[in-house]
Amino acid sequence: MAPRRRLGIMGGTFDPIHYGHLVTAEEARVQFGLEQVIFVPNRHPPHKDPREVTDPEHRYLMTFLATATNPHFTISRLEIEREGPSYTIDTIVEFKRRHPDEALSYITGADAILQILRGEWEDSPRLLALCDFIAATRPGFVLDHDAVRANNVTGRRLDNIHFMEIPALAISSTDIRRRVALGRPIKYLVPEPVESYIVQHGLYGAAAPTRAEARRSPDD
Ligand code: NAP
Repeated sequence: MAPRRRLGIMGGTFDPIHYGHLVTAEEARVQFGLEQVIFVPNRHPPHKDPREVTDPEHRYLMTFLATATNPHFTISRLEIEREGPSYTIDTIVEFKRRHPDEALSYITGADAILQILRGEWEDSPRLLALCDFIAATRPGFVLDHDAVRANNVTGRRLDNIHFMEIPALAISSTDIRRRVALGRPIKYLVPEPVESYIVQHGLYGAAAPTRAEARRSPDD
């Protein structure tokens, strides 16, 4: 029997999306043989005050711009359109309903996956049983295996969780927001269309371009 096709579900707040996220998705796709990676920006990250995160439509559009040139990447509005906290369990259940013949790998930051193991997410034990997990770690992250085992409140085996070090995750959304607010460059940290979007919409305290700057053509 042919092995089941596997889809990656890349969950995040993406406030904003940056090259660390894109490298994570591409590396996961290749390492784990994923047919496709579907980016799923959330509407309301359950662990954050919605007033602290940028409007979901801005985050969705930046994710769209960043992923448009990779034929293996797509983007879903599933969480953006669902009212209330964006619980990952609801998302995975829905993707399983839509893709009954494919296996799913949920990709996100390692900190988030450790929270699931500690049982901090909605329905964590059930979520852990529904799919594989790919946990991206930043350089310098050291996984404390004993602590992971001790904190594994779910009582489940851990062989469906895979850790993957991503050097490009030295980039972080928090740092990008801070840089924009301070007027420091974010070029080469985010794709150019995302950088332009941030400036055009004055996100994160970016100074909006003057009319003359907005009109200027590349030949000026
Ligand atoms: P977060 O808590 O802001 O970030 C945790 C760390 O993971 C950050 O260092 C973050 O870096 C990194 N990270 C986040 N998404 C990543 C990705 N796709 N690939 C690589 N690194 C990533 O994370 P978040 O983005 O708000 O939440 C992650 C996902 O978990 C979201 O889809 C969220 O909805 C979900 N979640 C669900 C529940 C629940 O169901 N109860 C609870 C919490 C979170 P950056 O800051 O640079 O992105």
